[in-house]
Amino acid sequence: MLVIASAMEHRPRIALVTGANRGIGLAIAGQLAGPDHSLTVLLGVRDLAAGRAAAAKLPGRVVAVELDLAEPTRLDDHLAAIQATHPVIDVLVNNAGVYPAGDALAVSPGELTQAFQVNVLAPWALVRALAPGMVARRYGRIVNVSSGGGSFDEGLAPSHAAYGASKAALNALTLQLAQTLPRTVKANAMCPGWVRTRMGGLGAPRSPAQGADTAVWLATLPDDGPTGGFYRDRHLIDW
Ligand code: NAP
Repeated sequence: MLVIASAMEHRPRIALVTGANRGIGLAIAGQLAGPDHSLTVLLGVRDLAAGRAAAAKLPGRVVAVELDLAEPTRLDDHLAAIQATHPVIDVLVNNAGVYPAGDALAVSPGELTQAFQVNVLAPWALVRALAPGMVARRYGRIVNVSSGGGSFDEGLAPSHAAYGASKAALNALTLQLAQTLPRTVKANAMCPGWVRTRMGGLGAPRSPAQGADTAVWLATLPDDGPTGGFYRDRHLIDW
């Protein structure tokens, strides 16, 4: 038994990063898998062929897994397939996101539903599926990639109402998780800043690697690290 316990302690941690084929998610995956952290990374992607091509360019142990968050039944099927091949997941980075334009009156019901599905309900479903294993193994790191747009303190992005409201709900989930989970499983939210990606646009000042930094820090926190916070540049910000 001691030998098995010791082997478990020294196995590489395994992280699942959603929306990891491009943008900030790809940068988070690359940094987690790289020599500084050496995690095994499951690259959650909608297009498996594109995901495999992306995985092949990253350092370390990276495996593309199909994970579409847009529809609950499909999400459940993908998650079941991932858990069948990778029953242990230590780190969950809820990075995938959608950013529909429109204020609270202009946003269409379909875009509103989609924003909440991808930005909140899918992360919530992933947490419900993966957190119990983390609790049982007494180790887990949950990182919710949120946004200043989801901060009441920063105004809730009224021109992108569905996005702001859904990220605020993701923040609320983060705080609830921290109050529910043992300290061995940490849940934090972060804002990557304004980043040059398809969502952020070419004019954004930050690179994906810079945007990824705080998420990677939270995904690899030591045992005495914080839980239940909202961070940018590794510093607490207001909800
Ligand atoms: P991005 O370049 O637009 O990438 C979004 C990622 O989410 C892509 O991998 C995309 O996959 C995936 N995705 C979208 N819908 C999905 C679905 N239904 N199922 C699974 N995956 C889906 O965005 P980004 O800038 O890297 O943003 C990453 C995170 O950072 C988001 O949560 C965003 O809200 C947050 N953020 C970004 C900024 C910024 O300035 N960029 C600022 C604040 C917060 P496909 O390639 O298949 O579409």
